[in-house]
Amino acid sequence: MQKQDILSAAEVAKAHYRHLHTHPELSGEEFETARYIKRVLAELDLPVHDYSNGGFHGDIKGTKDGPLVALRADMDALPLKEDTGLSFASENDGVMHACGHDMHMASLLGTAIYFAEHRDFPGTVRLIFQPNEEKDGGAEVMVAEGVMDGVSHCMGLHVSPYLDVGTFGLRPGFMYAGVEDFKITLTGKGGHAANPELCTDPIVCGGHVIVALQSIVARHVSPFTPAVVTIGAARGGNKHNIIPDEMILEGTIRSDNLANRDKLRGLLTDISAATAKAHGCDCTVEIIKGYVPLINDEKATEIVAQALRATCGEDAVTFLPTPTMGAEDFAYYLQKAPGTFINLGVKNPGDERNAIHTPQFFPDEAALKYGILAEVASALAFMEK
Ligand code: MN
Repeated sequence: MQKQDILSAAEVAKAHYRHLHTHPELSGEEFETARYIKRVLAELDLPVHDYSNGGFHGDIKGTKDGPLVALRADMDALPLKEDTGLSFASENDGVMHACGHDMHMASLLGTAIYFAEHRDFPGTVRLIFQPNEEKDGGAEVMVAEGVMDGVSHCMGLHVSPYLDVGTFGLRPGFMYAGVEDFKITLTGKGGHAANPELCTDPIVCGGHVIVALQSIVARHVSPFTPAVVTIGAARGGNKHNIIPDEMILEGTIRSDNLANRDKLRGLLTDISAATAKAHGCDCTVEIIKGYVPLINDEKATEIVAQALRATCGEDAVTFLPTPTMGAEDFAYYLQKAPGTFINLGVKNPGDERNAIHTPQFFPDEAALKYGILAEVASALAFMEK
């Protein structure tokens, strides 16, 4: 690897980063973003393959035969009004790259620039640009349409405001939760608040359902197994002296493996129905599909850890002590090929950065070169394995 050329690729990538940051687009609407990236890839003479959801990949063939290795960047921004004061802040009012996906794209473009000029590697590097990570899951669509066919290893990164610039967070095994969301509709019979005996009250029923669902994690899941049942919305009624006909509960269930996901879903449905029945209400449970759990391959994670230590120093790699119950659709690539998803430190030492998904979030641009280094080093390490 030519480090000096990585640094000059990072300089070019910085201009791309700023452009992408200024022009964020929401999930499923990354049209200008895709056009911009495709233009850059065309300038590098890289062929592009399109997917039905607006995603695409570009392949860079090395001068020697070898495996196909995939690197992925997500492209969508969030519905937030930017409040960073940056000179290149969002010009798309109410939309902001507050999850660092602009840095993911710019890193992958820097990686494209580097590999397009240094083709003396054994294999092919596939650059995956994926839409819709924050909403409906662009990864699953692209995987179903074959983006991982023939891929031997994959790698992706995500900015972390909790890790210093120049460091990386890795984790073998379980890293992000599998998620399903739900909507429970409880239907009773409304009437005057003074005549509860003439009504079937869905509010009291809803209260019991809320409490009963908390027994799922407390009583049905091993204390050594991570699981979450959260009700984030409870709606019913609009006046103090009217018993409504209906109450709606919305929430999310999260787990670390598919068997537990199915178990949580089953308990949620059964306990809701039985509790509703005890209170004379009808109950429907709608499950809204989320992402599968993200499981990093242990060997692939070790390959990347070694490559990063060799490239960025012994102290550059930290192993994350715990997984998160957040979700990330990179999980779908990992179902098809061994690989690893890593955190890219974007915090300056001594500087308290704001969290992602806030209007104040901005990653340190110095992290860009480390994003490129990580992707180049990982791809080379996978190909040389
Ligand atoms: Mn994200």
